[in-house]
Amino acid sequence: MSYDFNNIFARILRQEIPCNKVFEDEKVLAFHDINPKAPLHILIIPKGSYINFHDFHTQASADEITHFYAKIPEIAASQGVLDSGYRLISNCGLNGGQEVPHYHVHLLGGGKLGAMVGNV
Ligand code: 5GP
Repeated sequence: MSYDFNNIFARILRQEIPCNKVFEDEKVLAFHDINPKAPLHILIIPKGSYINFHDFHTQASADEITHFYAKIPEIAASQGVLDSGYRLISNCGLNGGQEVPHYHVHLLGGGKLGAMVGNV
């Protein structure tokens, strides 16, 4: 499977589609999910062209990976959920329920979250 440069997050990165941004630097972008599943629902994405968790961890440099994960707690803190708690989710591939084929981490919080996974 090759990276689809027309996926929606690639288009957001190229600023062809707007997003409600909460953080950006040279390697990472974070923005509100358009269809939030919790009072706070942020998507955190690397700017590199990686399809999913597996692709990111097998293809990205150690610096990209370290930088990406260092930003997640900073973003969580900036959103005020450190004390109340939050959940990170990354769906990978078909059975993982991934819809957008650009690697992303969901940051969910702002209220008590439900069961970790639905029924299969
Ligand atoms: P996945 O199912 O791939 O893990 O998650 C994709 C997420 O992207 C979904 O939660 C969906 O609501 C969100 N999403 C899809 N299209 C857009 C969009 O155009 N803008 C934003 N901000 N989020 C989107």
